[in-house]
Amino acid sequence: MRRKLAAGNWKMNGTSTSLAELEALAQAHPAPSVDVLICPPATLIDRAARILRESSVATGGQDCHSEMTGAHTGDISAEMLRDAGATAVILGHSERRADHGETDERVRAKARAALQAGLIAVICVGESLAEREAANTLDIIGGQLSGSIPDLVTGEQLVVAYEPIWAIGTGKVPEINEIGEVHEFIRARLERRFGAGVGRSVRLLYGGSVKPSNAAEIFAVPEVDGALVGGASLKASDFSPIITALE
Ligand code: PGA
Repeated sequence: MRRKLAAGNWKMNGTSTSLAELEALAQAHPAPSVDVLICPPATLIDRAARILRESSVATGGQDCHSEMTGAHTGDISAEMLRDAGATAVILGHSERRADHGETDERVRAKARAALQAGLIAVICVGESLAEREAANTLDIIGGQLSGSIPDLVTGEQLVVAYEPIWAIGTGKVPEINEIGEVHEFIRARLERRFGAGVGRSVRLLYGGSVKPSNAAEIFAVPEVDGALVGGASLKASDFSPIITALE
């Protein structure tokens, strides 16, 4: 049985005053029946993890380097994330693929480092609007899956987030049947590559304009094990009802 997961991606948002949102979130969900993960900016990971230590909310990073140490000014390794208290890391988010030219190969190398450091890799895939309109969605997703996901030992090491680029931060969400189609496709690909046991234990999240008002409908889609939430994860008052919808 896959445990459901509500993951929040704060992106480049949050300073020390935002930590109060984490306290509020942990208080609102003292014993959630689903996994909850918050990925604040790197500057807040250590403090977030300390605040959340006694809670059921986990802390994660938003990126890591593919090497563990070395001459890479400005970068953060998977071991450093782990040392700061993170248990997971988002990799290959479309904003990193666009802003930093991250290729599937790069994402795969980072994911390998994440697994080596004992982190859960939350690997993001998703098509652009032009790709969807050209009916290329499944080809694009298939290529990203085979290129970005490293070899696995267990399915629990990996979370795949399907995030259509055109749905991120736009308020637009695919039709429910479109979300279902892509999630079923991802599940089939994972089972084909890793076998049914591992392939079926990977959690699949939908991401892109998830909010309290649409969460329940999205969570009812087969193969959707939760959400990766950007804007609506910044305030406990928005993220909390999304967690409740998943429970
Ligand atoms: P959004 O972002 O919820 O603000 O659309 C989702 C994401 O990019 O992970």
